[in-house]
Amino acid sequence: MSTRVIPLALSISNAYLLLGERPVLVDAGVPGEETRLLGALCAHGVTPEDLSLIALTHGHTDHTGSVNGAAAGGAPVAIGAADAGLLEAGANGALPPIGPVGALLRPLIKRMTFAGASPQIRVTEPLRLEPYGIAGVMVPVGGHTPGSSVLLLDDGDAVVGDLVRGGFANAKIRPGHPMRHYFAEDAEAVRRAMEKVLACEPSRLFTGHGGPLSTAGVRRRLDAIAPHRTKGPRP
Ligand SMILES: [Zn+2]
Repeated sequence: MSTRVIPLALSISNAYLLLGERPVLVDAGVPGEETRLLGALCAHGVTPEDLSLIALTHGHTDHTGSVNGAAAGGAPVAIGAADAGLLEAGANGALPPIGPVGALLRPLIKRMTFAGASPQIRVTEPLRLEPYGIAGVMVPVGGHTPGSSVLLLDDGDAVVGDLVRGGFANAKIRPGHPMRHYFAEDAEAVRRAMEKVLACEPSRLFTGHGGPLSTAGVRRRLDAIAPHRTKGPRP
């Protein structure tokens, strides 16, 4: 069973359509972009009723905000259990910035809220995706948020959410250049998660912003994008 990863470029974040035996949506854009999200699915011949699963890499609203539009077709929503509260609240939680740009962005992101959604699946341990038509696994890793998860596909690709981002100027410049994300709740967990992903030697890393990234590029810049807490700037 092979899986194609199709990036869906939304207003400020990426969602992904995984095409295997059945289609799975990963992430769901900001609040209020249901029409754009469903249009992007339609462009690949997929309706919400076709989806077997909606997997959320984490609970921030720039990745969950339009989930109710996609979930209206009946697909279950899966999220790392520790982020279920964020999803239910439709809010962004702590958002600890890792530097001055994060501190500037924080109030804007904090204001981005929606009515929230109830996940049907709270992921606490690796969840194999074959029951949903995809050869791969959703793994809760924490780091960026306590319930951040990655999807590792048997074909070799990985979807890593906001553990790392790509490019400059909201990914308009050099989107394949690995960059440290602006926010992290647990820098050491981000590092552990990145090491786990790299140990699986993914062919490409698909990110919540910018990307895709190469494993070689991420490995080269690992200390910059996922520094150990003692080496990195203070939150
Ligand atoms: Zn995020």
